[in-house]
Amino acid sequence: MDLKFVQTTCPYCGTGCTFNLAVKDGKVVGSAPYQRSPVNLGKTCPKGTYAYEFVNSEDRLTTPLIKKGDEFVEATWDEAYALIAEKFKGYKPSEIACLSSARTSNEDNYAMMKLARGVFKTTHIDHCARLCHSSTVAGLAAVFGSGAMTNSIPDIEESKCVFIIGSNTFEQHPLIGRRVAMAKKKGAKVIYADPRYTPTARQADIYMQFKSGSDVAILNCMMHEIIKNGWEDKEFIANRTTGFEELKAVVMKDDYSPENVEKISGIPAAQLREAAEMYAKAGSGALLYSMGITQHTVGVDNVKSTANLQMVTGYLGRPGCGVNALRGQNNVQGACDMGALPVVFTGYQKVIDPAAHKKFADAWGFPDGICEPANGYEVTTLINVLADKPGEIKGLYIMGENPMLSDPNLNHAKHALENVEFMVVQDIFLTETAELADVVLPATCYAEKDGTQTSTERRVQKWRKAQDPPGQSKLDWKILAEVAAAMGYADQFTWETSEDVFNEMASLTPSYHGMTYERLDKPEALHWPCPEVDHPGTPILHTQKFGTPDGLGILTPLEWKAPAEVPDEEYPFVLTTGRCIWHWHTGTMTRHSETLDHEVPTGWIEINTEDAEKLGIADKEIIRAITRRGEVEVPAKVTDDIMKGVMFMPFHFKECAANMLTNDALDPVSKIPEYKACAVKVEKIQEA
Ligand code: SF4
Repeated sequence: MDLKFVQTTCPYCGTGCTFNLAVKDGKVVGSAPYQRSPVNLGKTCPKGTYAYEFVNSEDRLTTPLIKKGDEFVEATWDEAYALIAEKFKGYKPSEIACLSSARTSNEDNYAMMKLARGVFKTTHIDHCARLCHSSTVAGLAAVFGSGAMTNSIPDIEESKCVFIIGSNTFEQHPLIGRRVAMAKKKGAKVIYADPRYTPTARQADIYMQFKSGSDVAILNCMMHEIIKNGWEDKEFIANRTTGFEELKAVVMKDDYSPENVEKISGIPAAQLREAAEMYAKAGSGALLYSMGITQHTVGVDNVKSTANLQMVTGYLGRPGCGVNALRGQNNVQGACDMGALPVVFTGYQKVIDPAAHKKFADAWGFPDGICEPANGYEVTTLINVLADKPGEIKGLYIMGENPMLSDPNLNHAKHALENVEFMVVQDIFLTETAELADVVLPATCYAEKDGTQTSTERRVQKWRKAQDPPGQSKLDWKILAEVAAAMGYADQFTWETSEDVFNEMASLTPSYHGMTYERLDKPEALHWPCPEVDHPGTPILHTQKFGTPDGLGILTPLEWKAPAEVPDEEYPFVLTTGRCIWHWHTGTMTRHSETLDHEVPTGWIEINTEDAEKLGIADKEIIRAITRRGEVEVPAKVTDDIMKGVMFMPFHFKECAANMLTNDALDPVSKIPEYKACAVKVEKIQEA
């Protein structure tokens, strides 16, 4: 028997835990702790522990598929490439769009970005960061000059007070939750604000239950109390920020007094006062947030508001502090860093900047040039264009994304995707989206490739190949390079290894410039920015100055605005959505894990006990949830953990898809949809 252990990085959440894959006779058969990672210190959550189970699922895609009529038939790679090249050569650049993937490696995302802008010459490339943290990128970049988590995961342990808002950290980022618990063990206080009494709430010294969509009011109220009592960090505000007087003029309005914010949020005024005092007087405070903050029509305002609080308290640029945006997917930070966004090349170099555009055009050497120096469609805009203007986009290439379960208002998304003339999906399973494709290409998963991913804390870590890919499946970047060759651009895609792709990317990306595979082999890997080969990496950002033109953080006066859709007589409840610890995103991988799927085999809707009594709904009863966009039948979970008037659904489950119900109204700046608040009604299902 041949047994070996291969160190790799977890393919699920953005924490970036390291573990070993156990490989027996050439096949991945289990996982084992890797003790030396400073991220997870040998521990994993259930998803990471069982991340080996889907790898050899019988449902893996193993051969290219081409749709004939309504059926897929197996094809050779040459047949698939020839069809893709024939179709895409027939479209103008503006008629092609590409969706890259927060699940695949940096190398894969870089290759997709180069294929889109260099081969297809389209400006339309995006990925699902649009749906989870585009407001973080837009909001933090505007006020700090960098749109990423400011501090590191181990650093959270140094905090004297951790303030978590809009993140169920202990379920969604469990090994970051463990750091919060370690901080608490050292004496830190924990303040938690969320509409649900989640496992994270159990850790809190102060738990503030609030109506989804009142975040800016709550944060303004905390600043109101802090400034009123003179607890703000005057020195930090004077030396490191701009705009304090304008901010003060807004937050000190009576609208944001604790009594008035109690009316908006449902949080008792006394608790708001207590939280403000506890936080301001702690001495160091790490603010953690996730999609409870970002997925709103005011997502960018929410993000800027968290930054305001951290600047007012001076909790930035030092240990135990920071705006810690917890990115959801394993490589959503990396996919953004790689320029899989409609406005930037790698490292956030703007496509419309003539110097950046020339730099990439020169380096890539396409004889007929690259895309226009213009911004493309965000994925949410793209879906609307597909739905409303059939024929404007004709060719769509999707790598490792499943919009047919992850997009809001799924009836609308399905209508949009059905309008695409020719769609290619590259994935490891036949997802709900792949079922709509004309060509499906079988790709490899994390266990079958070398590569890198960048976790939420900007730490760039390696995947290491543990087994051969199943059937004819291939590395994502290799498939993209072969598509490019079929389109006539073999000379621009001559990489032989993942390391070749990484080195080309790093040579064009200042924040990754000092990284090499060799340097990343250390257990602690490297945090970007790492501009030179002797640079140690940067675990904490903004220690001396911010990345803004004058180096000052920008305080932004913000008024609270209600969600786009609020409850009324017909739809009297607020619906919010999220995840559970056992599943991840659209379940493509976790629902192919026997253990994880056994633990939580289907979805549910949480209803407050009093609300359920009034509606005559019993626990576990199958009911119908209805919004203006769709309806689903779903088991009720009657619980006191959710506040009255609010309901919650996880979005992993296709048989009771929460996104049939969610609102596709967008934040005007980041174009993120409002997944976290819409109006819903529920009704009993009458027996026939
Ligand atoms: Fe994987 Fe996230 Fe769990 Fe760590 S916390 S094992 S990265 S899913």
